[in-house]
Amino acid sequence: MKVICEICKKEFEYPIEQIKHRHREVELDLVPTNFWSIKDYLPEFEIKISKDGTIIPPKVRRKSKLKAGNTPMIKYSDNVYLKDESKNPTGSFKDRGMENLMNEIIAHGKDKVAVVSCGSGAIATIEYAKEYNIKSIVFVHKDVSKSSLKLISKADKVYFSDTFIQSYEDYMKYSLTHNDVFWGFLNTNISYMLGLRTMAYEIVEQLKKAPDVVIIPCGSGMDIVAQNLAFREMFESGKIDKIPKIGVVEIIGGNPIEQGYMNNVEDKLYIIDKPVESKTILSNDTCFNYKKIYDMAKRDEAFFLSVNDEMIDDFISSHPEYEATYDYTSMSAMAAVEKYSKTNGNDTVVAVLTCKNRIGG
Ligand SMILES: [Zn+2]
Repeated sequence: MKVICEICKKEFEYPIEQIKHRHREVELDLVPTNFWSIKDYLPEFEIKISKDGTIIPPKVRRKSKLKAGNTPMIKYSDNVYLKDESKNPTGSFKDRGMENLMNEIIAHGKDKVAVVSCGSGAIATIEYAKEYNIKSIVFVHKDVSKSSLKLISKADKVYFSDTFIQSYEDYMKYSLTHNDVFWGFLNTNISYMLGLRTMAYEIVEQLKKAPDVVIIPCGSGMDIVAQNLAFREMFESGKIDKIPKIGVVEIIGGNPIEQGYMNNVEDKLYIIDKPVESKTILSNDTCFNYKKIYDMAKRDEAFFLSVNDEMIDDFISSHPEYEATYDYTSMSAMAAVEKYSKTNGNDTVVAVLTCKNRIGG
């Protein structure tokens, strides 16, 4: 597989040690952004569909017993559907990328992986790594939720930082000085991203058509990048007749991509000085997939659907049953559905519920 660095336009044969190719000018305190694109990928990364409509993920050397994907689609209203990603083995969409990631670690001859996360990414990595006999090292901030912490403590080593941003800095300092540990940075890892694509294929298979809009909570943005790539592939191969637009859910006041896009900040990372507090994990000062999603918006394949905690709380107060199953961040997609449907009631919409509520579980 050939990948291209969009900054220096150099081509690389993948897998490469991504941490060794750096562009300090687009880094935020040592943390690199996603500047990678794929030139062509090997047939092993192709997604296949069996006769009964089951989506078969990219072929990997060592399969996992944890079966990610083929999650249910729930009818919410006449033309709104919910893709229930909480039904993945460790409870989030991140599981879809893990077989690919574990196989890449093995391909590099490594048996340790370091990740930084505030929840579901670490939990998925820890569970899959155990199965592949890979040691997991996790960086988190000290205020991570108790329910997540219980699962994160199953890692071989956990490092705590004072703040979210500090955990990223500490993670990078550690990764740059530990060459024996695989750099499992989920915000830029290409084989992980290619694994996430199965969701878009399932949506098309379950609806028997391309929806108009798919609403996805943004976070690191990798899920949005992956699903856009998958929809483009299906469009280019003639499987669907249009590329669904992705409604990018950020938090009002902590929405760096939307603000950067509105201000035409294209050639550098947009950073919000003091992002608002939110009960979601979505409010951010920047996004490591800023440029990727900015370019999608420019191509009219993404648009912004920012919400705030008050809108999420409003949704929950009228639909309390959702809170028991899905985490608060997932509910931002539902608040975005309400916002979008007010003016676009006839569109076919899929909202992605990204993670299960771990409280009590
Ligand atoms: Zn480069």
